[in-house]
Amino acid sequence: MSEQRKLGDIGFAGDDDVVPFEVAALDVRGRVVQLGPMLDQILSRHDYPEPVARLVAEACLVTVLLGTSLKFEGKFILQTRTDGPVDMVVADFATPTSLRAYARFDAEKLVAAVAAGEATPGKLLGNGVLALTIDQGEHTQRYQGVVPLDGTDLQEAAKTYFRQSEQIPTDVRLSVGKIVLPGNGGSHEHWRAGGLLAQFLPKAAERTRVPDLPGGDDPFAAPQEIADAAWQELLALVATVEHEELLDPKVGSERLLYRLFNEHGVRVFEGTPVEDRCSCSEDRIRGILEGFTAEEITDSTEEGVIRVNCEFCSKAYLFEPSEFSAQA
Ligand SMILES: [Zn+2]
Repeated sequence: MSEQRKLGDIGFAGDDDVVPFEVAALDVRGRVVQLGPMLDQILSRHDYPEPVARLVAEACLVTVLLGTSLKFEGKFILQTRTDGPVDMVVADFATPTSLRAYARFDAEKLVAAVAAGEATPGKLLGNGVLALTIDQGEHTQRYQGVVPLDGTDLQEAAKTYFRQSEQIPTDVRLSVGKIVLPGNGGSHEHWRAGGLLAQFLPKAAERTRVPDLPGGDDPFAAPQEIADAAWQELLALVATVEHEELLDPKVGSERLLYRLFNEHGVRVFEGTPVEDRCSCSEDRIRGILEGFTAEEITDSTEEGVIRVNCEFCSKAYLFEPSEFSAQA
């Protein structure tokens, strides 16, 4: 397939395919994705309460939008650590195509938050941090960017990350929902999500400079958007994207790009498919257990076996405690 595809060929990038695009006239590059069956598999397997599933889906979107930009073999990891009912969300993308995710939450606090009408994504996370990590193997430095979460959702936090860590003007839109699709034995609800990331990358760096605030450098002032006309046009166009449109399979990634940017000329490039695949293995878990003391092995043994469930994919691994008895 040629590197540059034509937007007239609607339908070449379907679900679970991250599509890079460029709007040269606006100096904008980005990626767009609709997650369908793959996301539905991940969320159905975990069977989280709906508000938790939504957070995990948002984390998956951010992770594939950023992770598929890795130029080398490696891993992109998103992790939240917060004090809300959902105190941890982890999603990681391993090149070339593997995504996995899970969340940890307090069921009682979650029920209370929903009952109190305090179940927005930002409130469910609470206060803490969002860490984004790029790990490209043992021979390269691990890179980590950390941004605060203080009642903000992942969409806002991702924008803050780019502004602070990379100084690239970035717009991010995330949308999560359920749609009813016909299937065996009647219609069923399926999870879907759509995400769009757009970045302003002009050749002249001064075009990305944030205007000086009147009255000096107030570190607590709200961050300003840059005034450049091309970037303002991009923001205005992205603001017209409706929540449902972003995840609607009848719209799809290309049709959305066409609708938004056709007037300015938009090119799309070869997409990256993403799959629901976990990297856990018996060998890897055995390696962890081999580091346990005899006491820890005893503590981990129930009814004569050590049972380890992968938190990401729920797969169960069983071991004989005697395998690890040399530790004593
Ligand atoms: Zn697993």
